[in-house]
Amino acid sequence: MNTDTDNSTATNMPNMDKLGTQQGGHPNPRYVGRYAPSPTGPLHFGSLVAAVASYLDARACGGLWHLRIEDIDETRCKPEHIDDIIQTLHTFGFRWDGEIVVQSKQKSHYQQALQKLIGDQQVYACVCSRREIADSAVSNTRTMDGPVYAGTCRRAGHPFEHNALRVITHNTAITFADRLLGKQGQNLEQEVGDFVVKRRDQLFAYQLAVVVDDHDLGVTDIVRGADLLDSTARQIHLQQLLGFATPLYLHIPVVVNNEGQKLSKQTLAPAINSGQAIKQLNDCLRFLRQPRQENAESAQQLLDRAVQQWQATAMTATK
Ligand code: GLU
Repeated sequence: MNTDTDNSTATNMPNMDKLGTQQGGHPNPRYVGRYAPSPTGPLHFGSLVAAVASYLDARACGGLWHLRIEDIDETRCKPEHIDDIIQTLHTFGFRWDGEIVVQSKQKSHYQQALQKLIGDQQVYACVCSRREIADSAVSNTRTMDGPVYAGTCRRAGHPFEHNALRVITHNTAITFADRLLGKQGQNLEQEVGDFVVKRRDQLFAYQLAVVVDDHDLGVTDIVRGADLLDSTARQIHLQQLLGFATPLYLHIPVVVNNEGQKLSKQTLAPAINSGQAIKQLNDCLRFLRQPRQENAESAQQLLDRAVQQWQATAMTATK
């Protein structure tokens, strides 16, 4: 991901001069936000930080805040974690707007979006094995979707059935202005390659599901961990192909353990302790460089007070 790219074809640059003039450092009065945990395990401190940041930012702007369960990757998600996550968020004082969206119930929406991409000839079938993709990779860089794909099958005309489907990318930069990190840019063809929107195992890819869901919910603002910064240009590319508006993005610093690894199920991050909600919410506020709420009597009261004092720009601009 380049932080300074001039060769841009796409942009959702907000007027940077206006940032910071309203509460929470945010210019959008019709704010719709969301929190989108994946039920691959119980919530850990890093997930709680993302929940707090997205919640406070939305509420500080008088906005809506939706909860979406991202269980599209059925190979990694477990249904028992869904109830646990919802219960934990409730115990920690979060109140969301509308129905909870569950990705596994939205597949017809993803199919519809895929049909549009196919109809517009933006998608092709790929028969490459993992090995072939790695061997032909354009560079040594790995993205969240694997090595940079060389476009081997782009003109091969393979049948769509039973194969992975990739969306065509271009050799131009997609740029956007992150509210915290400033101008960001990525040349998708060179830095990612054509990426998968439907997997060979017939599951829809995260990148497509997120874009369709955010559009369905009318999301205007995405606040999430900087580990997802690398996905944002892919998502903007899909938004443009599907004719969807691009939201504003704010990528918050990632919580790491003593070894410098991102907290996750893979790095054995401990589950948050529902018996210590106020303490852990205060720990989140400290991480996010917000004033602590020492005298709150309940988790909900703590969040209400934190909303009043939320300043997104107080966070350190680190990836
Ligand atoms: N489901 C993703 C995660 O838990 C978050 C996706 C997003 O916020 O766009 O890391």
